Amino acid sequence: MTQETVLQVNNLTKVYGREINIGPKIFGKKITGALDVSFSVSKGAIFGFLGPNGAGKTTVMRSILNYLKIQEGEIRVFDKDYRKDAIEIRKRIGYIPGDLAVYDNFTGEELIKYFNHFRPHDQVFLEELKQSFTVNLKQTTRTLSSGNRQQVGIILALASKPELLILDEPSSGLDPLITAKFHKILKQLRDNGSTIFLSSHDLSEVQAICDRVGIIKNGEMILIEEVENLRKKFLQHVFVRFSSSNVPTLKEIKALDFVLDADKKNNGNFKLKIKENIDDLINWLKGYEIERLSIEDASLEEIFLHYYD
Ligand code: ADP
Ligand code: MG
Repeated sequence: MTQETVLQVNNLTKVYGREINIGPKIFGKKITGALDVSFSVSKGAIFGFLGPNGAGKTTVMRSILNYLKIQEGEIRVFDKDYRKDAIEIRKRIGYIPGDLAVYDNFTGEELIKYFNHFRPHDQVFLEELKQSFTVNLKQTTRTLSSGNRQQVGIILALASKPELLILDEPSSGLDPLITAKFHKILKQLRDNGSTIFLSSHDLSEVQAICDRVGIIKNGEMILIEEVENLRKKFLQHVFVRFSSSNVPTLKEIKALDFVLDADKKNNGNFKLKIKENIDDLINWLKGYEIERLSIEDASLEEIFLHYYD
């Protein structure tokens, strides 16, 4: 049985601005917000959308919600067309925008009450949410700090236990304790069948809660992988000591296909960084007499930097 797909994005391209040619001169500029981005999120998954500032995360999220006019691509949410069925889709989504600008003369309580008129909500869960967060819901949101305003946004987005949550850097501005509680609630919602699409520029957040991750850089999705597989699949450190009778040169090692980088230590000791497949390494090592060998997964931080450079 194939997993039910909740969100499907195919070849999404969004370009901002436009060029105007007057004679030989070009005015204005085109900026690629998202270029040929494709991915899908299955029901009950937490998909982490990871990328630095300006990578295109918000652009993709706002496109899905039909808040932006896209140039190319197909988006399906709950197997419906994101544009034709936008209103129905929107009712089933909880969204936290990156720049939360809620009606700022209202208090948190008033906002919650207001939104609860339009959608079903679970009073017990709402109370649980209020307990989990520290924000004073009697204050107008205008007078709140950005982290506290973010908490109001989270409560509003989560209260109806939506089928799909689209969360644009939801933990920005939250302190670690609140972030941990928030993560716990997200996992709880996931376990109850909600699907979560969350952007972040924080690797440790993605590592902590996501099942899969898509890394976006300059508008392009450069990697999609199960978080569990990231480490073992993509970068490994090899420590090898050759017996003194036959030691390859550093230059020879660096020239090998599967070697990303290499360092010579002392007396026939080398440190290699290799790509996913260790079969090539093993075959190559067969030509030598080896005294010591160890292979370690790289840290996620390293993998992240590797793909960002
Ligand atoms: P992220 O959310 O990952 O930080 P964005 O999706 O906000 O990235 O931005 C992606 C790119 O699109 C950036 O180069 C940004 O400057 C550009 N961009 C975003 N919004 C606009 C806009 N309204 N007008 C012009 N360019 C924009
Ligand atoms: Mg953004």
